[in-house]
Amino acid sequence: MSPASFESKRAPFFKEIPDEKWNDWRWQMANRLNSVEDFNQVLKLTPSEEKALSTPGLFRVDVTPYYVSLIDPDDVDDPIRKQIIPTAGEVDVFTGMMEDSLAEDRHSPVPGLVHRYPDRVLMLVTTQCASYCRYCTRARIVGDPTQTFSRTDFDAQIEYLKNTPQVRDVLLSGGDPLTLAPKVLEELLTRLREIPHIEIIRIGSRVPVFMPMRVTTELTDMLQKFHPLWFNIHVNHPNEISQELADSMDKLSRAGIPLGNQSVLLAGINDCVHIQRDLVQKLVRIRVRPYYLYQCDLVEGAGHFRTPISKGIEIIEGLRGHTSGFSVPTFVVDAPGGGGKIPVMPNYYISSSDHKVVLRNYEGYITTYEEPQKYAIHDPKTCSYCQNKRLEPGQSGVSGLLDGEAMFIEPEHFEELHNRGGGQHRLRADTDKWKPLGIGDGKSGNE
Ligand SMILES: *Cc1c(COP(=O)(O)O)cnc(C)c1O
Repeated sequence: MSPASFESKRAPFFKEIPDEKWNDWRWQMANRLNSVEDFNQVLKLTPSEEKALSTPGLFRVDVTPYYVSLIDPDDVDDPIRKQIIPTAGEVDVFTGMMEDSLAEDRHSPVPGLVHRYPDRVLMLVTTQCASYCRYCTRARIVGDPTQTFSRTDFDAQIEYLKNTPQVRDVLLSGGDPLTLAPKVLEELLTRLREIPHIEIIRIGSRVPVFMPMRVTTELTDMLQKFHPLWFNIHVNHPNEISQELADSMDKLSRAGIPLGNQSVLLAGINDCVHIQRDLVQKLVRIRVRPYYLYQCDLVEGAGHFRTPISKGIEIIEGLRGHTSGFSVPTFVVDAPGGGGKIPVMPNYYISSSDHKVVLRNYEGYITTYEEPQKYAIHDPKTCSYCQNKRLEPGQSGVSGLLDGEAMFIEPEHFEELHNRGGGQHRLRADTDKWKPLGIGDGKSGNE
C-alpha cells in the first residue's frame, strides 16, 4: 500500500464481481464496455451519448470497468465520463481540423517511428489501448487492429535505430505499450537495450489510469531490468487519482522508475485553475511529477474539447509560484504541421536596459536584477569541454544562431526575392561585404 490514501470507488457499479476477477487486468480487458446496452447498465446515457454511440464509423469505444467505476453516474458532466463516452459533438467539423495534425506520418522514416527531434524518437508499438480517449490525437490509427504494427515493422524500426547513432532516447507509445503481450514488450525492450547508443527508454502509457491492476510485481520486476527507464502516465482530472492508481505508482516508484504525467487541456473537463491545482498537488503526492500540459490538437473528433490557448496560460499563471515548483507542468502547443512542442507561458520579463532587467513575480511584485558589469564571455570554440560539441546542423535553430553557426535563418525564397533582379552590378560585385569581417573582439566572424 502506498503512503498516500485516496478513495476507491469500485463498490457502486460492480459490487457483484469477485475480487480475483476485478483485480485481474485480463478480466478488465475482456469485460470492457462499448455499447449503449453496456453503459445503460451502469449509468443513464444522455440522448447525445446514445446518438454518438449509434453513429457508424465512430472512433472506437471501449472502456475498462475499473475506469467506468470512477464515474459519478448521476452527473452527466462527470469529467471522467466525458473523456471516454462519445457525445454528438464528436462528429462536428471545425476550421483547422486535420487527420494527422502533427504530421507524424510525414516524419516517419519507417512505419511507426516518428523522428522529429535530433536525439530522440517516438516509437509507436501498437494501435491498441486499454480504453479510448475521445480526443485521441492518433485517432487515425489508434483502435484499429488492422493498422497495428507487425513483426516486420518492429524489425524495420529496430534496424533504423541501430543505424541512427544520434538517437539516445526512445519513447514507446502507441496506442499503449502496456497492452502488448508481456513477452512482446519484454522482447522489444531487450532489443532496444542491445543498441549501445540508446541511453534512455521511456514508456508513455495510460494503462495505470485505465487499469492499475496491470501494474503487477511481474511487470515492475521486468521493467526494472531495462534502466534507465522513465515512465509517463496521462491523468487529466483529480477524480482519476484513486487508491488503486496510487498503489500502482508506488510499485513503479519502488522499482526505481521516475514518473511523470502528461495532461491534455480539455474544455468542460479540466479547463480551470482550481481543478489543475488539485490535480498537480495530488499527482506529486503519488510521486508523479507533472511534465506537460498539452493544448488540444486540431484533430477530428476533438473540436468540442478545444479551449483557447490563453486558457493554458491562465492555468500556468495560477500554478507557478502558487504551488511547489516541481508540480508545475510545461504548457505546450504541439505545432500543427509537425513543428514539435512549443512551450507557452505568462511573461515574467517586463523590461530591460543595458545593465538592468525588470522582472515580476506571481504576486505582481516587480523587481530589478542588476546585470554583471564584468562578465568573462564563455566561448565554446576555445573551451576544452565544449570545443567539439555541436548541435545537429539544420536543426540547431535559434540556438545555432547564438552559437555562431549561422547569422540568420531565412524563409524559403527569401534570397531570390531580395535580390530584386537586375543581375550583378558594380555595388553588388563584392559578394562578401555582408559577412562579418571577423575583426575587433576576435570572437565574431569567420576566423
Ligand atoms: C513529444 C515527442 C517527443 C518527446 O519530446 P520531449 O519534449 O523530449 O518529451 C519525441 N518525439 C515526438 C515525435 C514527440 O511528439
